Amino acid sequence: MCLDTHCHLDADEFGHDRDAVIHRAAQSGVNGVLLPAVRAKDHLSVKNLTHQAAQLMPASCYTLGIHPIFTPEAKESDLEVLRHSVIEALDDPRFVGIGEIGLDYFLPDLDANHQAFFFEKQLDLAEEFNLPVILHVRRSQDAILKALKPRKIIGGIAHAFNGSFQQAEHFIKLNFVVGFGGAMTFPRALQIRRLAKDLPFESIVLETDAPDIPPAWLAKQVSHRNEPAELPQISSILAEIRSTSISQTQTICANNALRVIPRWATLLAQLPLSKD
Ligand SMILES: [Zn+2]
Repeated sequence: MCLDTHCHLDADEFGHDRDAVIHRAAQSGVNGVLLPAVRAKDHLSVKNLTHQAAQLMPASCYTLGIHPIFTPEAKESDLEVLRHSVIEALDDPRFVGIGEIGLDYFLPDLDANHQAFFFEKQLDLAEEFNLPVILHVRRSQDAILKALKPRKIIGGIAHAFNGSFQQAEHFIKLNFVVGFGGAMTFPRALQIRRLAKDLPFESIVLETDAPDIPPAWLAKQVSHRNEPAELPQISSILAEIRSTSISQTQTICANNALRVIPRWATLLAQLPLSKD
């Protein structure tokens, strides 16, 4: 079982050849992608695209949320839109959580209070509906941990993780797993590789974050667009780092994702898929 736990298939970068991208991912052995929405108004397009991808990758699912990068244009009323979309989506087995949400302290134009407001309100939503969250954590590990600690969030994924070992351990204690992808494929990414090697294997998931974070072998290309078909090769790098087989790596990582995203596990239990 090979799952891409973070893939923005709805991104404009895939506008001209999305069908081919889905096809290539399925051909390369990806069984499913998790498609995190980034704006409240994208509910239907994300849902439809997930169902389309599921025709070739049956384990595909989606989450709904407002990404911190899109908070400058977000209005308070978007939270109502999101809440209605979540209630509606609860009937859809492919809807599995709240995301992508979080805090981005890297981009200088994002107002800290404004993004924190949307983040906290979406954590409220996750708590209310007992849903896991997909977290965007960029130079904001401690602030996000502080926001999570007093809450009863069931867990989720800290995607594209790039913090310290201690910070990773705090996320893991809160029933989160951490996502690794293209960044790990660069030999000089020593800190990320150390995390990928030394963290408990039960706390790691694989992701592409396509079209972003291209792996080393794409970074030199002109377009350097990442896509979900790269996941098997990315998983081979993790297998190397962990000194185990590629299939073992993919299976462990897929099981980790299903453990922290219960509705995804329920979806898969209903599918006639092989479990390896
Ligand atoms: Zn993302």
